[in-house]
Amino acid sequence: CGIVGYVGGQQAAPLLVEALTRLEHRGYDSAGVAVVGSRLQVTKRAGRVRDLAAALPKRMAGRIGIGHTRWATHGPANDANAHPHTDATGTVAVVHNGIVDNAAALRQRLTDQGVALASDTDSEVFAHLIALSDADTLEGKVVDALASIEGTYGLAVLHAGFPDRIVVARNGSPLLVGVGEKEMFVASDLAALVRHTTTVAHLEDGELATVTASGFRTFRRDLTRTETQARQVDVDPSA
Ligand code: GLU
Repeated sequence: CGIVGYVGGQQAAPLLVEALTRLEHRGYDSAGVAVVGSRLQVTKRAGRVRDLAAALPKRMAGRIGIGHTRWATHGPANDANAHPHTDATGTVAVVHNGIVDNAAALRQRLTDQGVALASDTDSEVFAHLIALSDADTLEGKVVDALASIEGTYGLAVLHAGFPDRIVVARNGSPLLVGVGEKEMFVASDLAALVRHTTTVAHLEDGELATVTASGFRTFRRDLTRTETQARQVDVDPSA
């Protein structure tokens, strides 16, 4: 339902939780955040964003992270089905908006390969497929995974082995990149960003982006670059 992401100089967890509250009006049943500091940490809960805020460990340090509010389509609203979803080694975390149409087949394929699935969701397959890719770069791993996916996604990916970046992808579900001062933001909805920046790039369907503290670059699923630029958006300051 709602996606947020942050990379920069601030602690990510409280900033992400605050950004998620800006998406609450869209409706949701669960919420969660993942940050990378010395390692990947995930906290997620069925219920309200304030329940998530209360559940955050005191030491959830990290200046990069992703967050999600879930509107369940595959599997009931419970803690396990809340996003972010991780791979079995706790290296990759993903948040996903949309529906993976071939989730049943992919879940079966992963189970046959010996992967233990931790949720009932369609979204979890992204984390395992990314972790299983032998591409050298996070961008390559994400593109590999997307080649198996049929369906819609707004996707944000965090990887403990590539702690300087969030990779995002869009296919049928909106994704924005927000440009700050030595910090960058990701969101599915402008409402989550306006407190921080009104300089925003809208990804196109089929497009991905690498987002680091110093900027972003966009590319296609064949890893060739695209020219999508950030623009100043007009926002009613009283809204
Ligand atoms: N299909 C996913 C799920 O059920 C994502 C739902 C959403 O867009 O929040 O977990």
